[in-house]
Amino acid sequence: MIHQVIDKIYEIELPIPFPLKSMNVYFIDDSPRTLVDAGIKTEASFETLKKGLETIGVGLNSIERILITHGHLDHCGQAKRLSSLSGAPIYIHSKEYERLNSLDHSLSIMKSILLRNGAPETMVNETINYIECAKIMADSLDEAFFLDDGDSILFKSMSWKTIHCPGHAPGMICFYWPEEKILFTGDHLLKEITPNPVLNVNENKPPFRYPSLKQYLTSLEKIEKFDISLLLPAHGEEIHDAKDLIEKIFAHHKDRMDRVLFSLSKGEKTPFEISMDLFPGMLPFEVFLGISEAVGHLEILKDKGMIKVMEKQGKDYYSLV
Ligand SMILES: [Zn+2]
Ligand SMILES: [Zn+2]
Repeated sequence: MIHQVIDKIYEIELPIPFPLKSMNVYFIDDSPRTLVDAGIKTEASFETLKKGLETIGVGLNSIERILITHGHLDHCGQAKRLSSLSGAPIYIHSKEYERLNSLDHSLSIMKSILLRNGAPETMVNETINYIECAKIMADSLDEAFFLDDGDSILFKSMSWKTIHCPGHAPGMICFYWPEEKILFTGDHLLKEITPNPVLNVNENKPPFRYPSLKQYLTSLEKIEKFDISLLLPAHGEEIHDAKDLIEKIFAHHKDRMDRVLFSLSKGEKTPFEISMDLFPGMLPFEVFLGISEAVGHLEILKDKGMIKVMEKQGKDYYSLV
C-alpha cells in the first residue's frame, strides 16, 4: 500500500510478522531518491515495497540513498539487500551500526542482565532463542555512512536536519524538514503506542546497559522545542498534534511510575516481578519488553531517592525507602 503524503513524499506500508503487523517506510522522490527506513528482510516486505514503488513508476534499482532511523530489524532488515540491488549508500547512527554488528556478544550480556533482573532462567532462554530466531529477518551492515545530531540531509530542493533521539534505541535518529515542519520520527513517537524503552546493552561500563527511559524522556523534551506540524512515524498513522502527543506520553510514564511504586508498597521485588504486576499474563516473548519497562521506571525512581536496590543471590531487589 502506497500513498502520497505531500508533494515528493510517499508512505509505503510494509508487512512485519509481529503483533504490530506493519511498518511504514517513506520514499522521497527528489534528488537523490531516498528511502527512510528499509523494512524487515522477508519476501513479503520486499515484494510489497517493489510493487508500491512500481505504482509510481520507480524501480528498486533507482533508489539512491537509504536513511535508517534505528537498527531494529523491522527498520533496517532489508537495507543491505536494497543497497546491493541499487548501489544506494546506507546512512545510520554509529551506535546502531555497532549494535547490529555485535549482536552475538550483546546477547550473552543481555542474558546476564535479564537474570540479574529476576527473570527465571527458562524464560530468559526462551527470550534469547526468540531473538536468535528473529535474526534471519535482518542482515548486518558492511558499509555505511554515519549520521549524528545536527547533520544535514541534502536534496536538490530541500534540506533536512538529523536529530539524535536516544531512548527506544541508543542511536535513534529523527529527520526534520524545517520548511514544511515535518518530522520523520522512526519509533521515537507513535500515535497509538508508547515506544518501549528497550534494554540496550552498553558494553563499556556496569550495569552494561543504557538508561533507556531517562534518555527517552530527555529526547522527548528535545523534540518538544521544535516547530512541528506533521509527524510521520514508522508505525501507524501520521500525527498532527505533536505537543498533545508528547504531553500524553509524559503523563503515561508518570502514571506508570505510580504503578511501580504501588507494586513496591507490598514489599521488595525484582524488576521481573514488577513487570508481572504491570503486565499480567505477559507471554514469554514479551518478558524482555516488560522488564525493559520496569527497569526504566525503577532507574528514575531510584535517582529521585524514592526507592533503593539491594543485590541478593545475584538478583536485584527494589524496595521503597
Ligand atoms: Zn524500534
Ligand atoms: Zn519499529
